Amino acid sequence: MSDSIFAEGFRTDPYWWDAVPRDAGAGLPAEALPERADVVVVGSGYAGLHAAITLSRAGSEVVVLEAGPLGLGASTRNGGMVSGGVNVGKHASLDPATADEMLAEAAESYGWFEGFIRDEKIDAMYQRCGRFVGAHTRAAWLKQAEEVARLNDIADSGASMVPADRTHDHLASDFYHGGMLLDRSGAVHPAKLHHGVLSVAEAAGVSLFGGIRAGAITRSGTGLEVETSEHAIRAGAVIIATNGYSGDLSPWHQRRVVPVPSYQIATEELGAECVTELFPTHRMIADTKRLLYYFRPSPDRKRVLFGGRARYLKHDPAAGAAFLRSRLLRVFPQLDGVKLSHGWWGNVAYLRDGVPHVGESRPETLPGVFHALGCHGSGVVMMSWLGHRAGLMAAGSLNRPSAFSGRRLDAFPGFRKTPWFLPMVGKYYGFRDWLERRLDG
Ligand SMILES: Cc1cc2nc3c(=O)[nH]c(=O)nc-3n(C[C@H](O)[C@H](O)[C@H](O)COP(=O)(O)OP(=O)(O)OC[C@H]3O[C@@H](n4cnc5c(N)ncnc54)[C@H](O)[C@@H]3O)c2cc1C
Repeated sequence: MSDSIFAEGFRTDPYWWDAVPRDAGAGLPAEALPERADVVVVGSGYAGLHAAITLSRAGSEVVVLEAGPLGLGASTRNGGMVSGGVNVGKHASLDPATADEMLAEAAESYGWFEGFIRDEKIDAMYQRCGRFVGAHTRAAWLKQAEEVARLNDIADSGASMVPADRTHDHLASDFYHGGMLLDRSGAVHPAKLHHGVLSVAEAAGVSLFGGIRAGAITRSGTGLEVETSEHAIRAGAVIIATNGYSGDLSPWHQRRVVPVPSYQIATEELGAECVTELFPTHRMIADTKRLLYYFRPSPDRKRVLFGGRARYLKHDPAAGAAFLRSRLLRVFPQLDGVKLSHGWWGNVAYLRDGVPHVGESRPETLPGVFHALGCHGSGVVMMSWLGHRAGLMAAGSLNRPSAFSGRRLDAFPGFRKTPWFLPMVGKYYGFRDWLERRLDG
């Protein structure tokens, strides 16, 4: 028997694509690309699709442009863990009133998200299974405990604390010192979710184009012109929903959105009994470290899916998978010998102030260009919601301001194209996490 850590047929595509393969042919043929549209949406992830659905239902002619096959980005690569905003602003220094407003809107977004899945009958394997957020130190546990009342008051999170000696009720691991339970939280199959939202967009009359890259956006008469890899399109408004894949579409946005890679692995089938032993309550798991691990049972409960930071600039899914497997074994040493069936990665988007943004990017110099950007790693619900809100803004029908709009989208000093600083930041955060655990004993 081979001693490789990779199972036979190991794949560097997301595990989710086994059930929903990327179909380069999906969407309309390039010849159907119109010369003009009311709104051009760039990006076919959850944000772009929800913006498009909202606008199309309000009567606009909407074109969605996707550089790769539809849904190539993070929306079909993520961990499928959904919640009502417990992570919002985690990396930011916000005044308490703003933080509370954001939490309240994030909680609202979760109700909206559940309603959308239910009303549109989307088969996303959605379960409201709850989440366990493991504390990496005793101090982190105490900090979590301070947040419980706020989460329950503002977001109705169903939050409660698990003492260290009850961790095993939720996780067959000694890695954490207890943690926080969140009931208003769940799981989806992200690619099935994306497929369902795509079908809703098609049914709403959105024109979807895969394999067409959007280029420079300029003023043209009273409107805008978007260059594309086919031909230019005139539009009244443009929505940028490109997440950590923004690239050189717009240099202005590029300097404001840092792409941060997140890696994931899937184990070979371990069997439902073994997975239930590891996750007795089948909750989604995250933790309090700066470089967090996020992991879960697969929707069929036969595998473990495990994610975290692995590599920052030179991407190599197999090397990244090997690294993450070593982290998986820190949490579940009993899985020594386990083989991996899949290892993949995708980008998330970080903004300078550490919170998601929705709004008109440059109303003075390029009016009509909107953005929904900056998931900071938690965007299944939030970016769907902000895409929807961007659609309302572009339609001029947003009836109240969003807690995520009106903030300045600042550039990162010294950053243009390559986030050269990420390996250093990663090392520094890794060191802080390690030191805290070390000092904690
Ligand atoms: C590995 C991983 C794990 C994650 N886990 C979770 C999780 O468990 N829970 C959670 O809530 N969030 C998670 N996230 C975050 C979540 O997936 C994202 O926030 C969300 O999918 C973002 O959706 P989006 O529509 O903004 O972007 P995306 O889905 O990334 O779509 C952006 C699209 O824009 C396209 N594009 C870029 N430039 C152009 C151009 N010039 N022309 C045309 N198209 C262009 C890209 O090709 C891409 O398809 C995870 C992300 C990753 C990568």
